[in-house]
Amino acid sequence: MSRSAHPAGPRHADVLPEGHYAAPAEDLNALDPKVWAHTVARDADGVVTVGGLPVTQLAEEYGTPAYVLDEADFRDRARAWRTAFGADADVFYAGKAFLSRAVVRWLDEEGLNLDVCSGGELATALAAGMSAERIAFHGNNKSPEEIERAVRAGVGRIVLDSFQEIVRVAHVAQTLGKRQRVQIRITVGVEAHTHEFIATAHEDQKFGIPLAGGQAAEAVRRALQLDGLEVIGIHSHIGSQIFDMSGFEVAAHRVVGLLKDIRDEHGVELPEIDLGGGLGIAYTSDDDPREPHEIAKALTEIVTRECEAARLATPRISVEPGRAIVGPTAFTLYEVGTVKPLDGLRTYVSVDGGMSDNIRTALYDAEYSVALVSRASDAEPMLVRVVGKHCESGDIVVKDAFLPGDLAPGDLIAVPATGAYCRSMASNYNHALRPPVVSVRDGAARVIVRRETEEDLLRLDVG
Ligand SMILES: *Cc1c(COP(=O)(O)O)cnc(C)c1O
Repeated sequence: MSRSAHPAGPRHADVLPEGHYAAPAEDLNALDPKVWAHTVARDADGVVTVGGLPVTQLAEEYGTPAYVLDEADFRDRARAWRTAFGADADVFYAGKAFLSRAVVRWLDEEGLNLDVCSGGELATALAAGMSAERIAFHGNNKSPEEIERAVRAGVGRIVLDSFQEIVRVAHVAQTLGKRQRVQIRITVGVEAHTHEFIATAHEDQKFGIPLAGGQAAEAVRRALQLDGLEVIGIHSHIGSQIFDMSGFEVAAHRVVGLLKDIRDEHGVELPEIDLGGGLGIAYTSDDDPREPHEIAKALTEIVTRECEAARLATPRISVEPGRAIVGPTAFTLYEVGTVKPLDGLRTYVSVDGGMSDNIRTALYDAEYSVALVSRASDAEPMLVRVVGKHCESGDIVVKDAFLPGDLAPGDLIAVPATGAYCRSMASNYNHALRPPVVSVRDGAARVIVRRETEEDLLRLDVG
């Protein structure tokens, strides 16, 4: 993951040598099912539809930019994870990827649990009627108010992230006359991103308690002594946008090693292990994510094998996919405002949103694809950079892509796979009004998060 975007100034255009770019797709009108939501298709007139509705109609009714979310696809993916892991495991959807009350209800109906990591996320989950026992509370610096609220609400688990937090949560629980179920988050010295993982020196980060130097074991020792806590397991989350399972293999090996040490020292076999989330999705046709059933099989085998070797009963496994469930289910619909060819370089296509609705490109150099969706075109491909309307040169949505050469102002384009970490990280930069999330299903659309208005902005500005 690189951090090349500079917050304050223009970012040097990285002009790459001729011929560097992957060739354009053979047919720019084709929609790769890997990157688009399940019900997305192009109709006989060349207009893209989702849930049976043409995007032209959605743009007219709800405006642009808008996040368009395929509810059937969301439910399919949630259910696929649930089914893949079966009754002996738990799937916690990571709410930070995208959370709204509608989404919480879908998850509830599909039998998934929910991770939250702030008072706001907890409030959203509870407001939607999710039962507190199915909520896990995360975060490396939960405030005393957040801890008290979570314990009072009766959340199913709090994931403890530091030595201070062990005593804080124990104290709150005891004061309230409760015994709080907790997991202890450890760092196993593995960090995984995309196609590789690094197995050394990655304990240098803010989350979790390092396994190294016996710190994690000491944390468990302390937590086991506190009346306010019921220690149910160990938690490990190794990264994001991961395709390679070997990082999980090393993590599981090390977590099980700790479970064995705990058994040997305290005579207690902790009943649960959480392997976190981070499973990758296809942002472009070059990405090949694994299916939930393959991931479930691989993780279950790894844990079972490690536990057999350590002569431990296999603990109940939980996982926390966020991106892998919601990411592919939504696209961002934009209207093209200007088309500016720069001779010998590329064509800049400006849309009516930008880094305020998708910060990932500026923040992580994330890759996206893009398509013309309001019509089909047989024009020659042109190399484009899709940019927003904000006052930053780094305001890039799609760094390099091909769109038809006859692209013009007023056309609608869509960026797929924006369901995760786009609306949830959206900002009001330049006093942008954050776009709505429109969910579609079986030929009907409804707004699940409405567009912000200038009134919303001014309501906070008390003059
Ligand atoms: C962010 C996060 C997740 C979800 O990550 P994805 O990449 O969206 O799957 C799961 N667990 C924890 C603890 C996280 O911080």
